[in-house]
Amino acid sequence: PREVRLVSRPVGWPTHADFELAESRLPDLADGQVRVRNTVMSVDPYMRGRMSAARSYAAPYELGEAMTGGAVGVVEESRAKGFAVGDHVLHSLGWREVAILDATSGRKVDPALASDSAYLGVLGMTGLTAYVGLTRIAEVRPGDVVFVSGAAGAVGSAAGQIARALGASRVIGSAGSAEKVRHVVEDLGFDAAFSYRDGPVSTQLREAAPDGIDVYFDNVGGEHLEAAIGSLTVGGRIAVCGMISVYNDTEPAPGPRNLSRLIQTRGRIQGFLVGDHYDLAGEYAGRAAQWLATGALQSRETFVDGIDHAVDAFLGVLRGENTGKMVVRL
Ligand code: NDP
Repeated sequence: PREVRLVSRPVGWPTHADFELAESRLPDLADGQVRVRNTVMSVDPYMRGRMSAARSYAAPYELGEAMTGGAVGVVEESRAKGFAVGDHVLHSLGWREVAILDATSGRKVDPALASDSAYLGVLGMTGLTAYVGLTRIAEVRPGDVVFVSGAAGAVGSAAGQIARALGASRVIGSAGSAEKVRHVVEDLGFDAAFSYRDGPVSTQLREAAPDGIDVYFDNVGGEHLEAAIGSLTVGGRIAVCGMISVYNDTEPAPGPRNLSRLIQTRGRIQGFLVGDHYDLAGEYAGRAAQWLATGALQSRETFVDGIDHAVDAFLGVLRGENTGKMVVRL
């Protein structure tokens, strides 16, 4: 079986030369371990940060080692109690076709309830991120006008729909193409959307939300964040989930020039990491199941096939080639 290793630390945009596809060395199973053949693996924007040497909330990837990340696979051999051949397991040893893991670090998932990829996306870390950002961080309330950037992406598409399900009066999205704008409005039920490539975000946001926005769910940072601060209502809340527009910058970009608006609006801006909020996972799972059943929450996935295309899939996420969750099928 094969695995993807990081062989050099990208400066600016990563390229294929930073990665190597290699044969895995698979030791025999120790007590308490399972061998899992991965069916799907996640490629996520945060992985860009782990490719740099700088310490962050997640440890940097080691050069010459297989990378890690969310994955679901099927148990091929088990020396762990409670895990049988054929069980589906969610774990963090993605970027490889076959993983050997301590069973305690994996979680069994039910293939009868949802597809393996759903446990990476709408029912997994992605969906929970949207839920945490809206409920615990932005404290979205019925009647709020909510703006979501990265609206056609995995977290953003969930955030917009969940905001609506939680009673938002108007949900506005931004994305990077006309087709994505069409998708979030026509398929996902956003009230309005625009492409940030069509003109200044501040102008387009003001047109879409003439009376301002109460909540901004930020996936993008930069110009989007400044525009959102400019449109914030009194008491408005900004949940900073991600800032993908700066992840490949080699020089830190200047911050929003209008932060002083937080004073007159008594506005609040707060970043968060989903990993701190797994206590909400059970609550979210219950509500997500209902929203999925009624159609209030729909999830789109973009599939790329084969470990030999995993790097393409990762680069594709950074470039916006995905609609909904980008998933590598192994
Ligand atoms: P997405 O599925 O949203 O994929 C990333 C998207 O970002 C692309 O599809 C692209 O869409 C968009 N994008 C890329 N470059 C730019 C740019 N310069 N300006 C605007 N949009 C851009 O990924 P995820 O849903 O996995 O992640 C979304 C955000 O959430 C990321 O910032 C990520 O880091 C963050 N995140 C944070 C977590 C936390 O715990 N805080 C947990 C999980 C994710 P387009 O075509 O629209 O440009």
